[in-house]
Amino acid sequence: MIVNSLYSNREVFLRELISNASDALDKLRFTSVTDQAALKGREDLEILIKADAEANTITIEDSGIGMSHEQLLSNLGTIARSGTRKFMEAVQGAKGDTNLIGQFGVGFYSAFLVADKVTVLTKSNDDATTWIWSSNVGSHQFTVKPDDGSAGGPLVRGTRVILHLKEDAQELADPVRLARLIKQYSQFIQFPIKLYSATK
Ligand code: ADP
Ligand code: MG
Repeated sequence: MIVNSLYSNREVFLRELISNASDALDKLRFTSVTDQAALKGREDLEILIKADAEANTITIEDSGIGMSHEQLLSNLGTIARSGTRKFMEAVQGAKGDTNLIGQFGVGFYSAFLVADKVTVLTKSNDDATTWIWSSNVGSHQFTVKPDDGSAGGPLVRGTRVILHLKEDAQELADPVRLARLIKQYSQFIQFPIKLYSATK
C-alpha cells in the first residue's frame, strides 16, 4: 500500500539519529581509553529518547563526543550544498517517499522527513561553549548560537537533537509507537537506550 510505504519509510529518521548517537558514543569511549578525564561530569554512555506529545517533539540525546563550533559547522553545515538542498526541497513536497530516500542516502538530514524544525544542542570537551544549531525545513539556512537555555536544560557533554514534528508526523510522539520503532532500529546498538514520555 502506497500510504503505508510512505509512512514506514520516513521512520528511518530514527535509525539515522540513533546511529549518529551511537557513533558519537563510540568516539567518546575510544577517547576515554587513553584519557579517563574525557568522561568527566557525565560518566554514563547512553542514548535518551523523549516523546512529548504536548509539545509535539521527539528528542534524541546522547552523552557522546559532542561537537565543537568548528565541527558543528563542518558536520551539519552542508545545508547549502546541492545534494542537501535538493533533498530539502524534495522533502517539503513528498512525505519521504522511497525514491527520495534511495536517491539521496540518508543521514542527519532525514530528520526533516518528520520535522519542520530541528534544533541541535551540542557540547564537546574541546569547546568551552555549548552550541545551539537550528534550521527550518524550507529555509536552506541554519543558525548557530551559544546555548541560551532555549533547547531544554544544560548539557554537560554530548548532543541533543530536538525534532519539532510536522503536523502529519505528530503521531510519532506516541511513546508506544516510538518504543516499537526503537526496538526495530536499535538491534545492533551497543549502548543503553532509555525512552521517556513527557505526558505519560
Ligand atoms: P554520517 O553519519 O554518515 O557521517 P550524517 O549526516 O548522519 O552522516 O552526520 C553528519 C556528521 O554530523 C557526522 O559524521 C558527525 O560528525 C556529525 N554528527 C551527527 N550527529 C551527531 C551526534 N549525535 N554527535 C556528534 N556528532 C554528530
Ligand atoms: Mg549518520
